This record gives sequence, C-alpha cells and structure tokens, in this order.
Amino acid sequence: MARYTGPVCRICRRFGEKLLLKGEKCYTRCTLEKRNAPPGEHMARRRRRPSERGLQLIEKQKARFMYGVQERQLRRYFAQAERSPGVTGESLLRILEMRLDSIVHRLGFAPSRPAARQLILHGHLSLNGHKHDIPSTVLKPGDTVAFRPETRDAEVYRRAEASIQGRYLPPWLSLDAPNLSGRVLAAPSRGDIDVRIDEKSIVEYYSR
Ligand code: SF4
Repeated sequence: MARYTGPVCRICRRFGEKLLLKGEKCYTRCTLEKRNAPPGEHMARRRRRPSERGLQLIEKQKARFMYGVQERQLRRYFAQAERSPGVTGESLLRILEMRLDSIVHRLGFAPSRPAARQLILHGHLSLNGHKHDIPSTVLKPGDTVAFRPETRDAEVYRRAEASIQGRYLPPWLSLDAPNLSGRVLAAPSRGDIDVRIDEKSIVEYYSR
C-alpha cells in the first residue's frame, strides 16, 4: 500500500480521534475539535459501531498513520516484536518509538513525525557523528542524533532551537540543547509511550 499523501486531518476525522499528525496546529487549531464527523459527502451520517475485527483494524491503522509506516513495514516490525522477549504488543510500540523519525520528533527537533521525516530525508541530521538520511532506522540505547554542523546556519536549525524550548522530554532520552543533540538512554517501557493505541488489538489483528 502506498504512503498516504492526502489531507491528514481527514485521517483523524475518519477515526474520530486526535492522532496529532500536524504538530503545533494539533494543539492550537485542531480541525477535529471544530468538525468531528467522518469525511466525505455524507459526513452527517453516524459512525457505525465496528465489529471486533473492525476495532482491531482501526487500532492497527491508527498505529500506521501515527508513525507514518506502510503496511509491509508494520508487518515486519510485528514479526520482529514476536521474536523479541517480553510482551509482543509492547515490543511493537517500542520498535515504532525507536525509529529515527519518531525520536527526532520526541527530542523536539521537529513539530511532528512527518516533519521529522522530511528533516532526515533532506540530510540535516547525523547519527553517531555520520550523516544519516533514513527515517526508518531503528535506534538503540547509546545512539546519538544531532544536527550536522553544515546546517547550523539553516532555517531548520533556528526553528529546532525554538521548538525545543519548554518541550516535554521523555525520560528515556537526553538532550544537549545548546548543541541540538540528543541521546537514547534506554528503550522506552509502555508507560513511557504516551500514545492512545491498544497494542493488544494489533497483536490480535496480525495473529489471525
Ligand atoms: Fe488531527 Fe492534528 Fe488535524 Fe487535529 S489538527 S485533526 S489532531 S492532524
């Protein structure tokens, strides 16, 4: 399935939930708060109660859109999570959180995961001191992400400097604010991952 490139607020309206896909706008001028109805011509129609399978599908799709991953990638992460020790659903969320684009967003370098993805693709960042432009790379404890010295005069650098101010930093990450550099201290536990996704439903969806 190709990556979705349409209007992202439609996705939240489809699920009837804030998925925080647009950064700052999600906290100040959220479309869903103004118009909480499914998108489309007949948006006045009521949301039908989904079946159990439908609910599992919704949770899986929410994870896909929130983390910006394609179906094939998510299935691959699920297989990886199944092989990991511990609870499969939690391992799956941990893998998604440890993706480079998610960590760049969590560090506050970008207002949303799609913006973080763009920052990485444009080659503004380094991983462990080397230029790195693959947003899907899954990091591990001890890895360091930073802006490359070449980007210090760029607009994106100034925007990141402003955006980290007063931003919540999860306890499993550390930030060297003056150098715009962040480090992964540990893999996050489920309690550290503040996303409203029922990971057990995703496990049930893929286990059928
Ligand atoms: Fe979703 Fe953000 Fe759009 Fe609100 S503003 S509907 S949270 S993407």
